[in-house]
Amino acid sequence: MRDVLPWREPVPLDGTMGEPRARGRFGEYGGRYAPESLVEACREVDEAFREAWADPGFRGALARLLAVHAGRPTPLTPARRLSEALGVQLYLKREDLTHTGSHKINNVLGQALLATRMGRRRLIAETGAGQHGVATATAAALLGLEATVFMGERDIERQALNVFRMRMLGAEVVPVTAGSRTLKDATSEAMRHWVGATGDSHYCIGSVVGPDPYPWMVREFQRIIGDEARGQCAAELRTGVPDYVVACVGGGSNAAGTFAGFADTPARLVGVEAEGGAGAARGRLGVMHGCRSLFLQDDDGQITQAHSIAAGLDYPGVGPEHAHLRDLGRARYVTVTDDEAVGAAVRLARTEGIVPALESAHALAWVIRAASGGDLPAGSTVLMTLSGRGDKDVSTLKELL
Ligand SMILES: *Cc1c(COP(=O)(O)O)cnc(C)c1O
Repeated sequence: MRDVLPWREPVPLDGTMGEPRARGRFGEYGGRYAPESLVEACREVDEAFREAWADPGFRGALARLLAVHAGRPTPLTPARRLSEALGVQLYLKREDLTHTGSHKINNVLGQALLATRMGRRRLIAETGAGQHGVATATAAALLGLEATVFMGERDIERQALNVFRMRMLGAEVVPVTAGSRTLKDATSEAMRHWVGATGDSHYCIGSVVGPDPYPWMVREFQRIIGDEARGQCAAELRTGVPDYVVACVGGGSNAAGTFAGFADTPARLVGVEAEGGAGAARGRLGVMHGCRSLFLQDDDGQITQAHSIAAGLDYPGVGPEHAHLRDLGRARYVTVTDDEAVGAAVRLARTEGIVPALESAHALAWVIRAASGGDLPAGSTVLMTLSGRGDKDVSTLKELL
C-alpha cells in the first residue's frame, strides 16, 4: 500500500497543539466521560496542573529532576551510515538514553511531582508490558510515594522481569483477571480503583489518553522532547527545521510531545502505528477510558483487541489530539507491519550501533520504506524520535532471528 505522501500542499499552522478548548476538546474528540466522582477528581487534577504549569517553581523543580535523575537533555544523533544508504539526512532524538530507557519517565516525573504538590501519598497506574509501571514505580520511590500498578494477568506471565523490577522498586503489582487480561482491562480496573481512592491517590496515566486533562497534561510533560529537539535542530541542521518529523504512536505520547515542538513550523508530521493497532489510521469514533476518540471496533461497535509485536503499540485506540491532527491534515498516520519493524531494528543495530525498542523501530521502518519508495524525496531532512531502547525486546527478537 502506498502512503499519502509526498505531501505537496502547505501544512496548516494556526491554532494546532495549543490548549484544548473547553472541557478538554480537540475538535470533536477528547472530553471527560467518567463517573461523577472521577469527573470531580479530574477537575482537581486539571486545576492543580494549570496552577503548577504556570508556576516557575514547579517548572524549575521538574527540570532539575529531569536533569539530575533522568539524564536530560538527551542528544540528537545523526544516523550517518543509515542516512547515506537511504539518501536522506536522518537525525535521532535519543529518548532511549533516559533513565529507565524510554520517554515514559518524562511524564511520570511530572505527574509524581504534581501528586506531591496535591498532597497525595500514592500513585495508581496501569501497565501493559510493564514499561509505564516501572517508570511509575521509579518516580514513586524517588519522591517517597507509594505505587499501586494494575497489570493484566496475561501480561504478568509474559513480562516477569518488569514485574520483578516494579516489586524491587517497592511497588504493589495487582493482577487483573477481567476480559482479555491485558492493558485495556488493566486501565479500566485502575480507573475503577481510583473511584474509591481519589482522596489520597493520584491516577498516573501513561499516555495522551483518558479523560481531560490527561491528554493535554501528558502532552505538556512530553513536549520536552520536541522543545529540546527544536533547539538541537536549529543548531545542527542547515535548514534549521527538519522537512519531516516522525514518531511511533501507541496512545501517542512520544509523538505528541515531539510534534508539539514543531507544530508552528512547516515540518510535515508523521505518526507511525502498528498494522494491528492503527487507531488513528483505521479507527472509528467511540468512547473508552473516559475519552472520545478513534478506536478499533467490530461491526457492533465493540472495541477490539489490538495486536503488535511491540507491547507499547498494542492499544486499540489513539489519543484525541492525534485524531484531531489527522482530521486537520496537520499530521499523517501510516502503518508498519511486525516484520518491517523487526527488519528496521536489525538495520539500526548494524548501521548505527543502537538496538531500538520495537516501538521505535516502527517509526524507523516507515522512514526506510518511504525513502526507498520515493515518498521521502532524496535529500530530505528527517527528525525521528527513538522512543526507547531495545533491551526489553531481546527475548522477542531472539525467538525470531
Ligand atoms: C510505551 C511506549 C511507546 C508507546 O507509547 P506512546 O504513548 O504512543 O508514546 C513507544 N515507545 C516506547 C519505547 C514505549 O515504552
